[in-house]
Amino acid sequence: MKLTPYGGIDEIGGNCFLFEAEKANVLLDFGRSFKNEGIYYAGYLLPRTSQGLTDFLEFNIIPRINGLYADEFNVNFLGERKKIHGCFLSHAHMDHYGNINLLSEDIPVYMGETAKIILSSVQETSRPRFGRPFIKPASESQPSNVRTFRTGDSIQIARLTITPVHVDHSIPGAYAFIIEDRKEDLVIGYSGDVRLHGWREDLTTDFIKIAKKKGVQILLMEGTNVNEDFNLNERQVQHDVSETIQKTEGLAIANYTLRDIDRFRSFFIAAKENSRKLLINLKQAHLLKLLQKDTNLDIPSFDDPNIEVYQRPKSRYYRWEQEIINDPIIQIIDSPDFPQEEYVFHCDFWNLTDLIDIQPKAATYFYSHGDPFSEEGLIDYNRMMEWVKAFKFDFHQFHASGHAPRKDLRHIVNEISPEILIPIHSEHPEKFKEIVDIPLILPSRGHSINLGKS
Ligand SMILES: [Zn+2]
Ligand SMILES: [Zn+2]
Repeated sequence: MKLTPYGGIDEIGGNCFLFEAEKANVLLDFGRSFKNEGIYYAGYLLPRTSQGLTDFLEFNIIPRINGLYADEFNVNFLGERKKIHGCFLSHAHMDHYGNINLLSEDIPVYMGETAKIILSSVQETSRPRFGRPFIKPASESQPSNVRTFRTGDSIQIARLTITPVHVDHSIPGAYAFIIEDRKEDLVIGYSGDVRLHGWREDLTTDFIKIAKKKGVQILLMEGTNVNEDFNLNERQVQHDVSETIQKTEGLAIANYTLRDIDRFRSFFIAAKENSRKLLINLKQAHLLKLLQKDTNLDIPSFDDPNIEVYQRPKSRYYRWEQEIINDPIIQIIDSPDFPQEEYVFHCDFWNLTDLIDIQPKAATYFYSHGDPFSEEGLIDYNRMMEWVKAFKFDFHQFHASGHAPRKDLRHIVNEISPEILIPIHSEHPEKFKEIVDIPLILPSRGHSINLGKS
C-alpha cells in the first residue's frame, strides 16, 4: 500500500491523498488548495479557465496524475495512465471537494448523502469554475458519477474496504474514513475535519470508538488547531449571542458562514429566546429547504414563526430564487423597511450592501468567524470593519472553530492509539510531537511513502 499526498500537507485544506493498492487506487478528498493558488494568483491575476488546466498545472496547483482529469481538458502527462477506482469526499467544504468537477467521468465519486444535497444547492445557486457541475446529472447513456453512503455502509474496492464514519464539524454530513487492506493486514484512519465541541460531539465519539475497535494502525489526523488552546464551544456561542441580543435595542446583524448549519442553529435558538425572528437570505433558504428532507438533521421548518427570508431588491431573480419567493410556506420579507427590533438579520460579506437599504439603528453586529488567517482574509476583514464603524454598530465576535483544539486532538489520537501518526491539514504538523507520544511521519507533497509491506 502506497500513499502519495498531493495536498493537505503543510497547509490547512487542499486535501488530496492517493492510496494505491494494486487494483484499488483511491483518492481521499480532492480539494482546492487556496494556499498554493494564492502564491501565484489573486485579485486581477487569476488562472485562465479558457486554457483548460494549463495555468494550474504550470505551478503544480493541481496534481499531475495521468488519468485523473476529464478528457476535455486534454492533459497528457508522460508515463503510464493510472486508473483511479474512486474518489471519496469527507465533506462539502471547498478545500475538500473543490476540484471534483475536473475529474474524469469514469471515476466514481463517493460522498455522504448530506454532502450531495449541499453540493446540489451550491451547484444551483452559484456558478462553479469551468462551468462544470460537481454532481453530473445522470443521462440515458451514462449514470451519474456520484455514489452516496451513510454511516454503517462499507465500500469494497478490490482488496480495500472503506468505511465512512460520521464526525462533528462545522458543516453537516462530515465523515472520517477507515481503510482496511485485507492483503497487508493494514488498517488506516483518516479524520477528515473534526471537532468535539459542536452540537453533535457524539458523532466524533462514534468515530473514535469504531477506529479503536477496528484497530487503526496508521492515523492521518487533521491538525488545524494543533497549536491552539481554547474552550469555547457551540453551546457557549449560542449563549453569548443570546445574552448580547437581549441588550440590543435595534437590529441584531449576524455574519456567519451560510453552510455552517450548527451556527445557523445557534443564531436561530438565540433569536427565538429573545422573541425575535431570524431573517436569512435566499441562498441559505435554498439549502435549508433541501436539508429539511433529511429528518436526522432536525432543520427547523419554514412554518416556524421564528424564521423568515429576506428578498433583497433586484431587477431580476434567478429561477431558484423565484422558487423560494413563491413557496407558500416561506414567509418572505420583500422590503428593507421591517421592524428592526424584531429581527436577527443574517448578513455575510456578500450581502453587506443590504445594510444601505435597511439603515440599521442601534444595531449589534455579530462577527461569527475565526480571525482572518490569509492576507486576503485580512483585507476583507478590515473593509468590513469600516462598515461597522460607518454604521456605528456595537461589534462582537463569537465563534467556535470547526476544528478540535490541542487538548481534544490529544484525546482523539490517544484514544485511537495508532502505531503511527501522519499529521495533515495543518500548518504546524510537527507540533503533534509536543502533544502525543506516538511516532510521526511528516510526508511532503507529491512524495510517495510505503505504508505496508508492498
Ligand atoms: Zn478542511
Ligand atoms: Zn472542513
